[in-house]
Amino acid sequence: MLRTARHGWIEVVSGVMFSGKSEELIRRVRRALIAGRKVQLFKSHLDDRYGGQFRISSHDGREIDAEPVSNSVQVAEKVDPETQVVAIDEAQFLDDGICEVVDALADAGMRIIVAGTDMDFRGEPFGPMGLLLARAERIDKLSAICVVCGDPATKNQRLIDGKPAPAEGPTIQVGGAESYEARCRRCHEVPQRDRAQREMVLRRGEGWEGV
Ligand code: ADP
Ligand code: ZN
Repeated sequence: MLRTARHGWIEVVSGVMFSGKSEELIRRVRRALIAGRKVQLFKSHLDDRYGGQFRISSHDGREIDAEPVSNSVQVAEKVDPETQVVAIDEAQFLDDGICEVVDALADAGMRIIVAGTDMDFRGEPFGPMGLLLARAERIDKLSAICVVCGDPATKNQRLIDGKPAPAEGPTIQVGGAESYEARCRRCHEVPQRDRAQREMVLRRGEGWEGV
């Protein structure tokens, strides 16, 4: 049987800070505009690093502005039923309810593009990103360049006065290059967590000796 109904899906662009997630989101939105699709773009109100300005224009002169949102309910309220493509940037700052919202929108036939940092500065899943990755039809995980060694970077290094920040700080602390660096697994440092992990491995070692 031929399926004629529109069907939607969820795409997630994840990865470390500075990996080009916003660039990729903008590229996809621009192409959707070229294709003549009706697009809505959202981003967390927490990210005002660009002075709240976030506008995507395609070469054919069409433009859309990002609408700031502070939670998943606002995304649900702001989406127009005629919209064909919904793009959400900085999704790590939203609540878990965003999963149900994007699922429902995809079920209703919309293409959903979600970009966000998948790990917090400790290397743990950030906000709803783990859940979104599990639900997505398509996932792209981008890497940046480790500022210490030049290898591909997958971790967010938080810095306080230029030094690695301890694990117990707040998960959300918006900042740019002055407080975050992209680093690889080897160069990523989280002082308290690293010490706790070392102690756990040492304890395990003692246990094994006794076997
Ligand atoms: P994201 O949305 O993932 O934070 P952006 O799209 O805002 O990333 O920015 C990506 C751009 O950041 C790159 O094209 C590059 O010019 C710049 N950049 C700065 N630091 C780095 C780095 N360490 N590795 C890769 N790109 C970097
Ligand atoms: Zn490195």
